[in-house]
Amino acid sequence: MLGTMMDFPLTVTTILERAGKYFSAVEIVSRRPDRSLYRSSYGQVYRRARALGECLQRAGMKRGDRVATLMWNHSAHLETYYGVPVAGGVAHTLNLRLHPDDLAYIVNHAEDRFLIVDDVLLPLYEKFRDRVKIERVVVVPQSGKPVPAGYENYEDFLAQATGEFSYPALGENEAAAMCYTSGTTGKPKGVLYSHRALVLHSFCIALADCFGLAQRDVLLAVVPMFHANAWGLPFAAAMIGGKLVLPGPHLDAESLLELFERERVTYAAGVPTVWLGILEALEKDPGHWKLFPGLRMTCGGAAAPEGMIRRFDKLGPKIIHSWGMTEMTPAGTTSYIKSTLENWPEDKKYELRAKQGLPLPFVELRGMTMEREIPWDGKTLGELQVRGPWIAESYYNQPEEKERWTADGWFRTGDVVTIDEEGYIKIADRSKDLIKSGGEWISSVDLENALMSHPAVQEAAVIAVPHPKWQERPLACVVLKKDAKASDEELREFLGQKFAKWQIPDAVVFVESIPRTSVGKFLKSKLREQFHAWKWE
Ligand code: ADP
Repeated sequence: MLGTMMDFPLTVTTILERAGKYFSAVEIVSRRPDRSLYRSSYGQVYRRARALGECLQRAGMKRGDRVATLMWNHSAHLETYYGVPVAGGVAHTLNLRLHPDDLAYIVNHAEDRFLIVDDVLLPLYEKFRDRVKIERVVVVPQSGKPVPAGYENYEDFLAQATGEFSYPALGENEAAAMCYTSGTTGKPKGVLYSHRALVLHSFCIALADCFGLAQRDVLLAVVPMFHANAWGLPFAAAMIGGKLVLPGPHLDAESLLELFERERVTYAAGVPTVWLGILEALEKDPGHWKLFPGLRMTCGGAAAPEGMIRRFDKLGPKIIHSWGMTEMTPAGTTSYIKSTLENWPEDKKYELRAKQGLPLPFVELRGMTMEREIPWDGKTLGELQVRGPWIAESYYNQPEEKERWTADGWFRTGDVVTIDEEGYIKIADRSKDLIKSGGEWISSVDLENALMSHPAVQEAAVIAVPHPKWQERPLACVVLKKDAKASDEELREFLGQKFAKWQIPDAVVFVESIPRTSVGKFLKSKLREQFHAWKWE
């Protein structure tokens, strides 16, 4: 027997309509390249997104056509997040930190027909323009200068709208957005997000035990809008009607802290590097910045070091550790203390918060080794596999990648985890980053976190280096804090307090910086290349 409920599609259109109708006065604050701020609102975004949808349709955009964006975080980018999909197109965010060769590959692979690009990013576009077949390019004036000759101004494009726009009747499983994995491992792969996935993901991340978002919140998306939908914030924020703060290209600690203070930000999301920078600035000058007392910050994309969570607790802001993937829209887990564990000792609770945590509702996960599920013992390593309504079932047009899914329909994340007795997952490594020494696995993430809790260490990455006797041994690459000193022996002794002798890196090298991927994660493949021929003593 069927239920008697309406078959109402879950689409981004409904989110836009709600924001336009009930929250039209709520502000969207954006920062321009010249650092000045400008204020838009959901009312304006609503009107302009619909105008964009209408003009794209007139320009020939058909159902399912990809419209690429090459933009920083600001309100016009938000307009594309809505204007493209509500008119039946697919908003394809391009990662502006990628090499022009990769961008050319991605644009061609996705067959993008339109491009909306910030004027300040035209020089990047021009580096791959000749290698792609984009039919129409619309330029968003951000710099305050006239749009260069030969290009169409976004404002002129929108001005052609008549206001006579009616939404196409979209199915909830139609594609609304697209993003390519940032390519930490292998060639970038395209993920197509359905309307349904984006809507369900918005509901879920807004939950109290996830990011805990409410209408009164002021949400700062530090995470770029080209990195996995800015973790879904642009959709969730509009769904709940929360004020959005978009930092444009200014992602340094000082600029962000200024926004935190001025806009009274209550919630922010970004990668650990960003929060480490902010932490340093706050500790250097305690009391200088007036942050909102209940400020929460989601930290994801790479492991949140326990030491960082503790140091922020002393200052006020609360870190919410979250794990996700581009293939997962992207949120998969968050770490919080279950009510039944509230009376655990403080140290154990910090240990839990530094784990990746518990799956979001409707995300199912398991750890697998040799086709068997690993026990919940907090020790056995296994590959994390996931399934759920906002998890990709395939990549766009890449049938050769189908081994990323198991025969019984789970997505292989490539992350290696333990699961403890309470169900909290802990990522030991990406499978490619694990260190296999004399038949035993060593987790680089644990060593890195421990090193980063040393007062002299700014950042640390631990990599596997070939070894004649042990196949591989860990080598620590360390960036010291400015003016701080520590020796190889001292750091290894420090690790000795926590780790068995065989787990401790055989050497520490001091480097100026750790190479990073386009979204700010450690690029360990580069370090492995650099130290491949390392001579062990
Ligand atoms: P890419 O795969 O190109 O790096 P993603 O942003 O999709 O791009 O990265 C997903 C991966 O990032 C995960 O598989 C995991 O290895 C890592 N990751 C994300 N969040 C966390 C976290 N909280 N802790 C540890 N690793 C994380």
